[in-house]
Amino acid sequence: MTDLPDLNSDCSQCAALCCVGLTIDKGDLFSFDKPAGTPCPNLTGHLCRVHEDLETIGNHGCVLYDCAGAGQRVTQMRFNGESWQDDPTLLPAMLRDFAALKPLHERMRHLVEAEHMNLPDTLETDRQRLLRKCARLWSDTPTLRADFETFLTALAQLPRA
Ligand code: SF4
Repeated sequence: MTDLPDLNSDCSQCAALCCVGLTIDKGDLFSFDKPAGTPCPNLTGHLCRVHEDLETIGNHGCVLYDCAGAGQRVTQMRFNGESWQDDPTLLPAMLRDFAALKPLHERMRHLVEAEHMNLPDTLETDRQRLLRKCARLWSDTPTLRADFETFLTALAQLPRA
């Protein structure tokens, strides 16, 4: 079995990359606007000072968001645990790597879940091949994206149990 990175987010090992990198638009899911690349005003260090109150202040979108472990992997494996808060010059590269890695972590999650689908041999081989590929890359590629879409299409065509 392929050695996989941790696909569960661990904010304690991350430099709050989602709370800095993502655009927040005031609306049903968020109570304020924030441009991409700007630290959220609710950050204290790398943690959210309103974490327990996200629903009541109208930030359900923060509760829904899940980086699938990409944030801590970028922080720890690409930047050795360093943070843009200590060295602001790191921020563009940290956000770039986070944006590049997150789709791969989401794919790996889908592929891991598919393990329980009792796939035909050829699809199971494809699943494992795609997992190996996702695990060794740091950013998406057009080939990987196309292969993943092909895999999903094949999954959708399986007879329902
Ligand atoms: S409100 Fe909290 S969880 Fe949401 S972006 Fe700001 S710091 Fe992050």
